[in-house]
Amino acid sequence: MGSSASTSQIHVVIVGAGVAGTNAAKALDSKARVTLIEPTDSHNHKIAALRAAVVPGWEKRIRLPLDGLLKNGKVIQAEVLSVDTGRVTLADHTVIQCDYVILAHGRGKLAFPCGKLMHSLNAAQLSIF
Ligand SMILES: Cc1cc2nc3c(=O)[nH]c(=O)nc-3n(C[C@H](O)[C@H](O)[C@H](O)COP(=O)(O)OP(=O)(O)OC[C@H]3O[C@@H](n4cnc5c(N)ncnc54)[C@H](O)[C@@H]3O)c2cc1C
Repeated sequence: MGSSASTSQIHVVIVGAGVAGTNAAKALDSKARVTLIEPTDSHNHKIAALRAAVVPGWEKRIRLPLDGLLKNGKVIQAEVLSVDTGRVTLADHTVIQCDYVILAHGRGKLAFPCGKLMHSLNAAQLSIF
């Protein structure tokens, strides 16, 4: 009981619900408190997109709703603006505190490692990264 009680307190925020983010979220759902953040309401199954162009029926498999993806964790429909140690800031400036962040935003607008925040840091602060 001790270990499951303590791991469930660990808060992991996952940025992006692509193939990397959704798989990470599912794998961690029973082991930690998971928050998955994705601007859209669904997982874009890109690999299905080309097949959908030639195989009837596959068009339903391109966008997979995120509702029900996680048994325990939470999905937030929002864009992440920046990531800093122990916290993630959404586009509406909501700050989410967490223990770990998994950056799974693919080639999204958020640049590695901390997106728009990078542009506001001075040279000394940038050297930390
Ligand atoms: C048409 C097509 C066909 C493909 N076919 C294949 C194939 O057959 N085999 C193969 O191996 N690969 C294929 N790929 C490549 C494969 O789809 C990518 O390698 C894979 O999707 C990368 O997954 P990912 O989770 O890293 O990123 P992505 O799938 O790009 O997911 C990133 C997610 O992060 C979200 N995001 C971005 N920025 C933010 C932000 N600031 N805040 C919150 N969320 C954010 C996005 O909305 C997105 O949902 C194909 C790609 C395309 C476009």
